[in-house]
Amino acid sequence: MLSNLSAVQILTLGSPSIAGLFALSFLALAHHNARARHLKVLALSFLLFALASVVQILGIPPDVGWNAIISGALYAGCVIFLAEGVLGRVGARQGAAFKLAAFFVIVGGMYYFYYVSNDLVARICVLNFGSAAVLLLSAVRLSPLLKGRPVDKVLFWLFLAFALSFFPRTWLTLGQIHVGMGARAFGTSSFWIALHMTLVLFGIALAVVLILAAAMDKIDDLNRERNEDHLTGLLNRRGFDEYAAELGRRGTDGPVSLIACDIDHFKQINDRYGHAAGDQVLRQTARLIRHTLRAGDAGSRAGGEEFLILLPGTRAVDAYRVAQRIRIAIETQRYAGLPESVRITASFGVAERAPWESMDGFVARVDALLYEAKRLGRNRVEVAGGAASVIA
Ligand code: GH3
Ligand code: MG
Ligand code: MG
Repeated sequence: MLSNLSAVQILTLGSPSIAGLFALSFLALAHHNARARHLKVLALSFLLFALASVVQILGIPPDVGWNAIISGALYAGCVIFLAEGVLGRVGARQGAAFKLAAFFVIVGGMYYFYYVSNDLVARICVLNFGSAAVLLLSAVRLSPLLKGRPVDKVLFWLFLAFALSFFPRTWLTLGQIHVGMGARAFGTSSFWIALHMTLVLFGIALAVVLILAAAMDKIDDLNRERNEDHLTGLLNRRGFDEYAAELGRRGTDGPVSLIACDIDHFKQINDRYGHAAGDQVLRQTARLIRHTLRAGDAGSRAGGEEFLILLPGTRAVDAYRVAQRIRIAIETQRYAGLPESVRITASFGVAERAPWESMDGFVARVDALLYEAKRLGRNRVEVAGGAASVIA
């Protein structure tokens, strides 16, 4: 088998092998990733590239016309699914009509320019400019990548450069074709192979960046999970501490307030109605808290039935009002799994951070206010300096 292949053929089989390996890598990543669909689409794209190159290099089927059309169809599919896969990173998709139209224009054009009016130049134009059009029309919708991480920005520019590279490559290719040159002779010329190499290098660069981006997504997911409370979806204590430390590092111009909230006599709810009902109270309380948060606020379940809410850019008086709103909402809400007559209440501590205060000291001070609210009878908000100081 190998002895029937030319040295050039054996060497050029390297690129479909690499593409096949990338296809497998995307599949493996898809297996461990929540946003798996676009990775499977990318695997398909690289698989189609591998098949297209094998068809071309080995001359299967041997009929030149069918070989050109089949490899052209595989390349067209490769480009269409590459665009679809990269669009998947920004949550976008090309419509089925767009994909089918692009495919049939390219493949139909190649068929026409072989069997109806045999024209190698026209075939090269249809395949290359068709591919470039699909990629450029997708690149227009990839601008959200520019707001992403560095790897997303690199992906955007690389994708755009890849789309644009079809123009000089095609122009250089056409410049090399002399009248009457057969497709086979052209396909084995070193000039064509050199041009093909630029395509392969772009493919490798795109694959590496896409794999890197998917790996970073995974790391982000794991980091988020590590900082999240499973029961309520709020931050956990670790997430809260990291957020607070980050806020301390960045420094804030305006005030920072903190609300601590602890459900009253929660142990009795568990004891009387069961742990599942208790969990439901925690979930519903968390939902109430989440609805009061604005961008930049951090709501967390700091442990058991205690919640910490950090409010950058908020004065004590406004944090006090937020706490009162949450207190009343907790008291008046109906809880699934509990009799209607059961009233849930919570106690609150609220303060604004002093300029010199450490974050730990601040949390401890607000916790002390929370326990003061418990001592004074529960279902109330204690604010540093007393309610009169913030209301006045
Ligand atoms: P207080 O008004 O003084 O805050 O009284 P309390 O009963 O709410 O406080 P205590 O600290 O005595 O009890 C808290 C209870 O919260 C004890 C624990 O079983 C329960 N708890 C902690 N975590 C969870 C949880 O994830 N789910 C449920 N259902 N209960 C929890
Ligand atoms: Mg409690
Ligand atoms: Mg507690």
